[in-house]
Amino acid sequence: MYPFSYVKAKSLKEAGEFLAAHPDAKLLAGGMTLIPTLKARLAQPSHLVDIGGLAELAGIKEGAGKLLIAGGTRHHEVATSDAVKKAIPALAYLANLIGDPQVRNRGTIGGSVANNDPAADYPAAVLGLGATVVTTRREIAAEDFFQGMFTTALAPGEIVVRLVFPVAKRAAYAKFPHPASGYAMAGVFVAETATGVRVAVTGAAPGVFRWKEAEAALGRNFNPAALAGLAVNADELNEDIHATREYRANLVAVMARRAVAQITGK
Ligand SMILES: Cc1cc2nc3c(=O)[nH]c(=O)nc-3n(C[C@H](O)[C@H](O)[C@H](O)COP(=O)(O)OP(=O)(O)OC[C@H]3O[C@@H](n4cnc5c(N)ncnc54)[C@H](O)[C@@H]3O)c2cc1C
Repeated sequence: MYPFSYVKAKSLKEAGEFLAAHPDAKLLAGGMTLIPTLKARLAQPSHLVDIGGLAELAGIKEGAGKLLIAGGTRHHEVATSDAVKKAIPALAYLANLIGDPQVRNRGTIGGSVANNDPAADYPAAVLGLGATVVTTRREIAAEDFFQGMFTTALAPGEIVVRLVFPVAKRAAYAKFPHPASGYAMAGVFVAETATGVRVAVTGAAPGVFRWKEAEAALGRNFNPAALAGLAVNADELNEDIHATREYRANLVAVMARRAVAQITGK
C-alpha cells in the first residue's frame, strides 16, 4: 500500500469541497473494493475521504411508489430492511447474495454502483428497475449512469447520495455465482414495471446491459417458456479462464428463465 492521508468528512459538502481541492483524493465508503485495490498497489490516492458515517448518506424510505435508499446504506441493511422487503423483495434478496457477511456489513450501495464492477449485483437491479442515481450535482437515469467496465457517468468529485427505485409490480433476480469469489458469472434481474418488462444482465459482459429480445418476448407472454430459443449474442460476452462466451450466453438464458419462474411459480 502506498502512503496516503486519511480525512473524515463531516458533511457531503465538506467531502465535495475536499475532493475539488485535491484531485488525487478518493472517497472511502465501505472500503470493500477500495482497500484491496490499495493493498495491491493498483491505486495511489493522495487522501482517503471517509464518508462512511455521514447521516446524509443513511436511511431507507418508501412512499408514493418509490423506494429511496441512501448511498451509504450497507448491503446487510438492504437485505434485512422491512421497507425493502415489502416494496421490492427481489432487491433485498439480491443484497443478501452479495459476498459474505463481512462484505455485506461493510459494503455500501453507493460504493457498489460508483465502482460498477462488471460482475456486481446492484447494477442489474438499478438498470432492471429503471432506477435513478441521485448525486451531489444531478439525477442520472440508470441507462445513462452505467457506461461499461468500472466506468460511470460520475464526474470527478461527484458523490452518489441516493438511489431511487420505482416500485415494480413484480421482480426477481437469479444469480450464478462464481464458486470462489461469489461474484456473478451471470446475474439476471427481471422486472414487470409500469412501463413494461425489463431484463438486465450483469456478470456476463464488460458491463451491465438490457436484454431487449427477452423483454419483448416476456411482454407478450410473461412465462419462462416465452424465453425458449432466445439467446444473447455470445460475441459480446466475456471469455476468460472461468467460462467461454457460449457458456456465459447459456447461463444468461438459464438465469433469465429462473428469475421469471421465481415470479410466476412455473
Ligand atoms: C470478498 C468480496 C466479495 C465480494 N462479492 C461481491 C458480490 O458477490 N457482489 C457484488 O456486487 N459485490 C461484491 N463485492 C464488492 C462489494 O459489494 C463492495 O462493497 C462494493 O463494490 C463497493 O462498496 P464499498 O462501499 O465497499 O465502496 P469502497 O470500496 O469504499 O469504494 C469503491 C469505489 O467507489 C467510490 N465511492 C464509494 N462511495 C461512493 C459514493 N457514495 N459516491 C461516489 N463514489 C463512491 C470510492 O471512491 C471507490 O472508488 C465483494 C467484495 C469483496 C471484498
